[in-house]
Amino acid sequence: LLRAGVDIGGTKCLGVVVDDAGAVLREERLSTPAGADALLDVLDAVAVVLSPYDSFGVGAAGLVSIDGVWRAAPNVTGVWDFPVGARLAARLGHPVAVDNDATCAALAEWQAGAAFGASDVVLVTLGTGIGGGIVSGGRLMRGANGFAGEPGHMVVDPNGPPCVCGRRGCWERYASGSGLARLAREAATGGRLARVVALAGDAEAVRGEHVQFAAREGDHEALLVIDQWAWWVALGLVNLTNLLDPEVVVMGGGLSGAVDLVLAPVRRHFADLLYAPGHRRHPRIEMAALGEQAGAIGAALLVEAHA
Ligand SMILES: [Zn+2]
Repeated sequence: LLRAGVDIGGTKCLGVVVDDAGAVLREERLSTPAGADALLDVLDAVAVVLSPYDSFGVGAAGLVSIDGVWRAAPNVTGVWDFPVGARLAARLGHPVAVDNDATCAALAEWQAGAAFGASDVVLVTLGTGIGGGIVSGGRLMRGANGFAGEPGHMVVDPNGPPCVCGRRGCWERYASGSGLARLAREAATGGRLARVVALAGDAEAVRGEHVQFAAREGDHEALLVIDQWAWWVALGLVNLTNLLDPEVVVMGGGLSGAVDLVLAPVRRHFADLLYAPGHRRHPRIEMAALGEQAGAIGAALLVEAHA
């Protein structure tokens, strides 16, 4: 069977067709427009390029309800409460499966990527925010409404910095890519990170890429900031492990390109923070294997996972 999937991101709609093994046969990408009608036009155009296919799925950032309504869409303009599943199905003339983009990425990494063969998997995407997806007992976990797997808004410090969701100290304020930049700017405005500030031109202009660049040069202060960030990542992963007892924890998203800097400190802090570490098998902590196509591949696999 040929399965088509499209990942609707804040900047682009990435579509793929995969075969029975999850291997990508065709790919198409178009810019994500503002507004529901323009988005339907773009998805239609992607579907034309991906044809022929036997099934069609969509992954979308934000809260996607179990009946295919995009309830909250922080990164795409004009689609809050948009019934993307029903409207796209009517437009294309066939059924469309819809789920959250990180849930799709978890499905893809489980079926064809870093967590292949496991039955209990947690995936987190570390990007602008933090997304998540959960496989439990060999099934994709959706929750009562479709909203399962939003670990970015677990509060890890009620007195922490404000979050887009209206609360304070959410995990994604610390452990996302933006969180790394925030920790670095804090250090820079406090008079540390001279090399990183020199790269950025200004303490307020410091971004994660500057920290990564300096860290690869061996800059000690940059490495310390990454280690501090890795502690926050590990803290959330331990919280998720206490809740879900996964066999594999997969880290994806924008920071998966920094695997050389990230993986070792996250694994070390995770082992330190884990409950009863000497009396259990530790989950494997892996970087995502499918890169930017993970969400689209997972969207293509939704039809079976939702069945
Ligand atoms: Zn939040």
